[in-house]
Amino acid sequence: MWPASWRRETALICASWIIPILPPKRLLTGGAVAVRDGKIVAVCHQEEAKRRFQAQETVNLPECALLPGLINAHTHAAMALFRGIADDLPLMEWLNEYIFPLEMRWVDEDFVRTGTRLALAEMIRGGITCFNDMYFYPDVTAQLVREIGMRAALGLIFVDFPTPWARSPEEYLAKNLALYRTLPPNDQIVWMLAPHAPYSVSDAMFRQIAELADEYDLKVHLHLHETQAEIAESLDRYGQRPLERIERLGLLNARLVAVHMVHLEPYEIEKVVAAGCGVVHCPQSNLKLASGFCPAAQLEATGVPLALGTDGPASNNALDMFAEMKSAALLAKSLSRDPKALPAEMALAMATIEGAKALGLESKIGSLEPGKLADLIAVDLSWPETQPVYDPVSQLVYAAGRHQVREVWVGGRRLLANGQLICLDWEMLRAEVAIWRDRLASTLET
Ligand SMILES: [Zn+2]
Repeated sequence: MWPASWRRETALICASWIIPILPPKRLLTGGAVAVRDGKIVAVCHQEEAKRRFQAQETVNLPECALLPGLINAHTHAAMALFRGIADDLPLMEWLNEYIFPLEMRWVDEDFVRTGTRLALAEMIRGGITCFNDMYFYPDVTAQLVREIGMRAALGLIFVDFPTPWARSPEEYLAKNLALYRTLPPNDQIVWMLAPHAPYSVSDAMFRQIAELADEYDLKVHLHLHETQAEIAESLDRYGQRPLERIERLGLLNARLVAVHMVHLEPYEIEKVVAAGCGVVHCPQSNLKLASGFCPAAQLEATGVPLALGTDGPASNNALDMFAEMKSAALLAKSLSRDPKALPAEMALAMATIEGAKALGLESKIGSLEPGKLADLIAVDLSWPETQPVYDPVSQLVYAAGRHQVREVWVGGRRLLANGQLICLDWEMLRAEVAIWRDRLASTLET
């Protein structure tokens, strides 16, 4: 006999297919996930669930696949307001001539509030329940994540030049430490140190970040080996490739969340494996900026945590993890000339449990297992695009679009119901976005 309070508080979510991710290759047809107090209490067949739990609420999702929420392991959410403003340019020209000047002119708390809300609306609609962010005013982003009910790893950003967030190395340190102390990490928000990139952070600042990471037990979220230009500049300035420089400065270890990792020599892959750091592959951003190709299949074979990220909405231009899964799988096959490379199941793992591992959250999210937080999405496979269904994982990676995400829960709280956002007022947000669009467009015209 189960305790009465437990029986009353349990919700059952029933779907045609449950894809728990762990254990690997498990697929439950006609399954249910039981949720109580924001956590998963059981993953089993529907008959068993109905026998075990007298649920307060039962949600039936025929023709849907139920799986863990997708984890976008690298983005710059507020840059959604820059989407489409400067396309088809190399990274450094895009950054130096467009993005950095626009940021100096326009980025403030209001910009970050509206841009991040726009990105959260897009991500929730696309089945993303957790994201790893790197942008200015992380305090504003933290407040929005709490209000809207998502989950996030937020970067305490460091750059070695003045930005709207801080003007000097001392100010970056003071503001980031104050923020960390004001908002201690919890299940909903964890902090990372986020030095922007090897070309924008000095040796002294990197050393300080290595000390802070040790002192506060924080992960370090860093763009690394994104382009050939980054590597050439590092060799010219420091006589070392960026990965070697990071190693010299005490940052190549299990705390590192290394984003992009394009242009890796075989000995560098060995260093990454030995260090145990997480890698975030951003295939669509790398393709759009013509940055090169991350050796994802080789990295995957080593067993390092290999996550997927969209990168910012200004260099992609979509926060679409379905598109990233498909791109990662296709790119790996094409590069290795092996159609068996990075199969669909691995692409889905990269968007879920591997993302959780890279962010250090694998004990809480990334799979549907009793005891984990109830971050779930239901994808409707009854659309023509995904019929007939022989293998739901194949449909999710190779055929489904994010418009097929029907339901989203984070910590058991529903944020998307029947494809509609129920956690924010989209019409009001759309009006705010339009105001920002007009402001930014006026700058571009002058
Ligand atoms: Zn980025």
